[in-house]
Amino acid sequence: MQELTHYINGAHVKGTSGRFTDVYNPATGEVQAKVPLASADELAHAVECAAKAQPAWAAVNPQRRARVMMKFVSLLNRDMDKLAEALSREHGKTLPDAAGDVQRGLEVVEYCIGAPQMLKGEFTDSAGPGIDMYSMKQALGVTAGITPFNFPAMIPMWMFAPAIVCGNAFILKPSERDPSVPLMLAELMEEAGLPKGILQVVNGDKEAVDAILDHEVIQSVGFVGSTPIAEYIYGRGCANGKRVQCFGGAKNHMIIMPDADMDQAADALIGAGYGAAGERCMAISVAVPVGEQTADRLIEKLVPRIEKLKVGPYTGGNDVDYGPVVTAAAKQNILGLIETGIAQGAELVVDGRDFALQGYEDGFFVGPHLFDRVTPDMDIYKKEIFGPVLSCVRAQSYEEAIGLAMDHEYGNGTAIFTRDGDAARDFANRINIGMVGINVPIPVPLAYHTFGGWKKSAFGDLNQHGPDAFKFYTRTKTVTSRWPSGIKEGGEFNFKPME
Ligand code: NAD
Repeated sequence: MQELTHYINGAHVKGTSGRFTDVYNPATGEVQAKVPLASADELAHAVECAAKAQPAWAAVNPQRRARVMMKFVSLLNRDMDKLAEALSREHGKTLPDAAGDVQRGLEVVEYCIGAPQMLKGEFTDSAGPGIDMYSMKQALGVTAGITPFNFPAMIPMWMFAPAIVCGNAFILKPSERDPSVPLMLAELMEEAGLPKGILQVVNGDKEAVDAILDHEVIQSVGFVGSTPIAEYIYGRGCANGKRVQCFGGAKNHMIIMPDADMDQAADALIGAGYGAAGERCMAISVAVPVGEQTADRLIEKLVPRIEKLKVGPYTGGNDVDYGPVVTAAAKQNILGLIETGIAQGAELVVDGRDFALQGYEDGFFVGPHLFDRVTPDMDIYKKEIFGPVLSCVRAQSYEEAIGLAMDHEYGNGTAIFTRDGDAARDFANRINIGMVGINVPIPVPLAYHTFGGWKKSAFGDLNQHGPDAFKFYTRTKTVTSRWPSGIKEGGEFNFKPME
């Protein structure tokens, strides 16, 4: 049995806490490795190494720091297939989807190559007689991030690339479900020229997370995962005086107007609802057709497409549409919610409960499901299912449809499918959700924009990547300077305007 490690101070380090958890191959259900769960002492050791290394790294000029990112991009491209395979083996997603996971992280690394431009401060010449004023964007020091299982390459890179290029050290606590790719990324960063101690991977569970939240040297914490944990981390991290940003769960609605191209809408729903087995925070889990006729036409288009979906292991060839979910517990949770949906009166139009795959009987596969006539009081509507389950809520008007999305507690992503520019514009303006697609089902912003939800999908003031990341990972210092030849007066006791 492979025993995974931590990555501390430039070396793979065995866990010493004596606690481990199993890492599965979700396609076969087999345990393929065990990962150590760090103690508070192991975390403290990583922080100590980071704190020693960070000042010298912050003193490296931004252009040189950016060159490490440049090299890292070329190494990611070199190792793309290897990374995708390791990712699929632990997560279960298809190989092209795993390569996409790496690619979307890589694009943020590319954006970080622009650090010299992003980190330029401001300067006012002669703000007063002989007085200059300038502001600097300085690194925070030791920063940390806690990431979810569903994007084990992309989300760590969204955090550590901007943190590190800004001159910080970064401690990554990845998901214990799929920790191998984060360890590989740390090795590649070092191969790209990053000094030891600047990027460290500490594997673990709540104990390591709490140690991060309570360690006084750690200046900031980034979190992506489920909403209850996001709320907990935001509260405890802020109470301990840290800068914190937390991104949580989702229930993304797609509104289908009567004038939408129904084939296009159905195709979009298939990819956005069932891709990656629905284990995406930007997955569409609720379809809201406007009008009974629209709903009937949509269901008619969806059913044959869903029945054609090919579910299989990542080794099953290019025509596999999606793989298993991540753990047996995740599968049980999804199947439990499906039973609740039936009990509460939703109409199960496509029933994937009997899904079985020969040779993979112990894998965590869940067949595709489609519910129609779901209502807002049902658990399958209120809760994030995080599985291949699409719920259709029939709305009688556009106002009812937009009201549904606005009243839901989550506000990560949403989409409208229509040919009507007025409706699309009104939707984009009024909706209280962070990322909006117009005839685009998964509107994930590119690296140079920012990513973040509203309502219970995000806690904190700044989004991920784009210009916000440079704000999150630096603090501003403003200097007012006057040299001795400009000092002509004695003591000043009152504020006075600059002359
Ligand atoms: P999770 O909340 O179970 O775990 C996320 C991280 O928190 C992991 O590193 C885990 O070890 C840690 N953790 C788990 N329980 C903890 C506890 N009690 N105390 C402290 N730390 C704990 O989430 P997950 O299942 O890995 O990921 C799926 C969730 O992430 C979904 O809700 C999904 O919507 C969300 N997600 C959100 C975004 C976004 O940008 N909004 C992106 C991806 C995933």
